[in-house]
Amino acid sequence: MHPWPKPPGGPHYSVCHFCDTLHVAVAVPEGTAARCKCCGAVLYQNRPASLVRATAFSLTSLILMGVVHYFPFLMMDAEGGFHRNLNLTSGANALIHEGSPILGIGLAFFTIIAPIGMASGLIYVCGPLMFGRIAPGAIRVASWLNKAEPWNMVEVFLLGLLVSLMKLAKVADVHFGMGFWAFGALMFCMAAAIASIDRDELWDRLEVAKS
Ligand SMILES: [Zn+2]
Repeated sequence: MHPWPKPPGGPHYSVCHFCDTLHVAVAVPEGTAARCKCCGAVLYQNRPASLVRATAFSLTSLILMGVVHYFPFLMMDAEGGFHRNLNLTSGANALIHEGSPILGIGLAFFTIIAPIGMASGLIYVCGPLMFGRIAPGAIRVASWLNKAEPWNMVEVFLLGLLVSLMKLAKVADVHFGMGFWAFGALMFCMAAAIASIDRDELWDRLEVAKS
């Protein structure tokens, strides 16, 4: 139940995002959070086994991404013996070649490239930090991860897909493949990986490893 190491020097400060009150950032034990003295909002949290969890969930996400691409995502059967297996890559490809290139590129970026980039980036930053080391360029990667976080839209995609499937089910017989279930699990793993480590903790650990 140890607090994460603070960078040398100090005192360090933390500002409440809701009421702008300035606080001295004290170390908090594992499993607890520091709260604003004025409004009670959470300033930062020391999440249990944060580095191990962030790395493990990211690694699982990458493995699941492999499953998503290897196994069919959807299987469609329509009248006249029409049968088609679809996965994420073939879906994006079909959109690009059938008149909706921007939608296809967006689909590929938000559901394939962004999650792989987020998971790989988290492993690159958090993996070496478990051993108190810092990977070359890790600070730049961590800053990029902060900026890229809102662009990881697997949940939005899954929701949109379910809505369109309800319409599609009227004209064809649609079955979910292994890729779909893996994508659902990927959504939870990505959310868990991102939520595993507080930003304040990540930056403090990077500062300590750098010094
Ligand atoms: Zn506050």
